[in-house]
Amino acid sequence: MNFKKMTKISVLILGIILPVLFLTPNVLSSEIKTPSDNKQNNHTNTKTLTTIVIDPGHGGKIPGARGRIAAEKDIVLQVSQKLQIAIEKELPGVKAILTRSTDVDVPFHERTNIANKNHADLFISIHCNSADVDIRVKGKNGRYVSSVKRNPGVSGTETFVCGYNRLQRGESDVAMRENADILLEENYQEKYNGFDPKDPSTYIIFSLMKRTFREKSIRFATYIQNQYSKNNRPNRGVQELSLAVLASAGMPAVLTEIGFISNPDEEKFMLSSDGQQEIVQNLIDAIKHYKNSTGL
Ligand SMILES: [Zn+2]
Repeated sequence: MNFKKMTKISVLILGIILPVLFLTPNVLSSEIKTPSDNKQNNHTNTKTLTTIVIDPGHGGKIPGARGRIAAEKDIVLQVSQKLQIAIEKELPGVKAILTRSTDVDVPFHERTNIANKNHADLFISIHCNSADVDIRVKGKNGRYVSSVKRNPGVSGTETFVCGYNRLQRGESDVAMRENADILLEENYQEKYNGFDPKDPSTYIIFSLMKRTFREKSIRFATYIQNQYSKNNRPNRGVQELSLAVLASAGMPAVLTEIGFISNPDEEKFMLSSDGQQEIVQNLIDAIKHYKNSTGL
């Protein structure tokens, strides 16, 4: 091969490789957009808030937390159905999709699949809290054993976004409880990359949570908490937590705990038509605020 031919071939190879090298980061960055990417793209972003997925927690054979009268799965389904109707009424042009509209269980990955497949712009998982604390009590043999104690005095609302914290004892109650449904799914370790909801050390896998949607998720969660607060509900704030149901959502996503089912007054409030209406209105106002603030 003479020099000219070699040069020609080299130019040809570079002509193929270089565009690929330049194109690759673009392909990746279009899949994994960071908040700063979104800012840069704002001038070309004609996207609007068109689809919201509402996820009533638990269902079917998985009741979630239990109160004196009701189960979490029933309260959150009622609130979610009312929220769906309210969104379509108060936010014309916005479609609201439920991950379940009956008393059935839906695996976590399927809940976010529904949102991802429908290209949802927002994912709201609705749950009731429960103040069950793990305590250490002295057993008959004198050894300390774990026991669960219910605390009916705890009340209020809190909203979570998916984070990647290592769980500390005492901080893990919500994550442990809300993630426990995984144990009832077949091949859960395969589906969730070896994740064991009972083992705090495995929670670090949630570091994979896309940081992309962190900022918007926190903003939306804050608006929700502000609305609850306006109605004098105790505000327990916004927290980042390793929650399986939010981990694979490809959009801003929150899990809101609308009250403590373990508190008899809050259980009654969440079961009442007035209470449900207030919670739905809080969520609607938060969505409107979010929609305006992001310029969607
Ligand atoms: Zn729950």
